[in-house]
Amino acid sequence: MVRQFDGNRVVDDVSFAIEPGRVTCLLGPSGCGKSTTLRMIAGVEMQDSGEIYLDGQLICDTVFRVPPERRSIGLMFQDFALFPHMTVGENVAFGLTTSGGQKKERAKFLLDRVGLGHFMDSYPHHLSGGEQQRVALARALAPKPRLMLMDEPFSGLDNRLRDGIRDETLDLLKDEGASVLLVTHEPEEAMRMADEILLMRRGRIVQQGAPYNIYHAPVDKEAVAFFSDINVIRGVSQGALTDTPFGQFLVPGVDDGSEVEIVFRPQHVSIDFDRGGKGPNPTAIAGAPARGVVERARFMGSDSLVEFRMDHGGEILKATVPNVFLPKPGMALWLTVRRDRCFVFPAA
Ligand code: ADP
Ligand code: MG
Repeated sequence: MVRQFDGNRVVDDVSFAIEPGRVTCLLGPSGCGKSTTLRMIAGVEMQDSGEIYLDGQLICDTVFRVPPERRSIGLMFQDFALFPHMTVGENVAFGLTTSGGQKKERAKFLLDRVGLGHFMDSYPHHLSGGEQQRVALARALAPKPRLMLMDEPFSGLDNRLRDGIRDETLDLLKDEGASVLLVTHEPEEAMRMADEILLMRRGRIVQQGAPYNIYHAPVDKEAVAFFSDINVIRGVSQGALTDTPFGQFLVPGVDDGSEVEIVFRPQHVSIDFDRGGKGPNPTAIAGAPARGVVERARFMGSDSLVEFRMDHGGEILKATVPNVFLPKPGMALWLTVRRDRCFVFPAA
């Protein structure tokens, strides 16, 4: 699909399929085109080109268009609004076309399911933000939509509530067997919720895969950096190898003389007080140790972040250490990296 505003391709040739009964997260930084993509699927925004299918049926191209209310798509947006003049039960039953008794039964079932059955006859303004959120979820799920679209549904909640509500939401979505496309700009949220992640950037899907694969087999440096702090060492390829402070790295398929970047996360750097008996074996997972001098060290809560200036190359590298480890600036220590956690990319 393509959607442009003022000649700007906000959604630029986006094409993907999602599996029924699973939670797929569309993840990317603010402004990359996530909401626009979702709104086109919902039918409240028209694409400039491309087609959308639901269960193999065309619901929208540039000529034919099933109206939003006939798509059997459930919506839950960040600024979800309950109907203030209806009771909580009536809100949940709103989209149901079954008989009165069945409507009430389904509403009660879902409200019980989210722990709010006793609020059936209350009005929304009696509920807290988190409770209203759960009612909105029940309302969206009540008609058993073929697809649930959720746009940053947790971003209005305070941090303390959010993890609990995410987990509850996920449980309910799974129980209902819902097919979900959830938009978020938070990597932690996507990792927590998703069976599958679609990583989006500047209007394009750059990678699709299970959270584990996106994290451990990222497509490029930006994809690594989206999930955590990164370290980057630059090198030049020579005979499919490159020299680094940690010994030689294999850089298969890179032309001689081309620049490469070795990218790794601070939690995959370990620190020793001496050179250790590891020896410079470039094929071992632990790699060769390299000496660095502490620039600064900060306590971050569950771990400490230590920055080093490397003797060889002069790069600044970061390492995270569980709990408290705050060596004095100027102290020389030995670093090793987990080679199986290093990614090699052609230099940008
Ligand atoms: P995201 O949800 O990833 O934060 P959006 O899809 O909301 O991103 O927006 C992507 C880009 O498209 C933004 O730069 C936004 O300003 C622009 N945009 C979205 N809707 C419109 C519109 N109706 N008119 C003009 N520009 C828009
Ligand atoms: Mg958005």
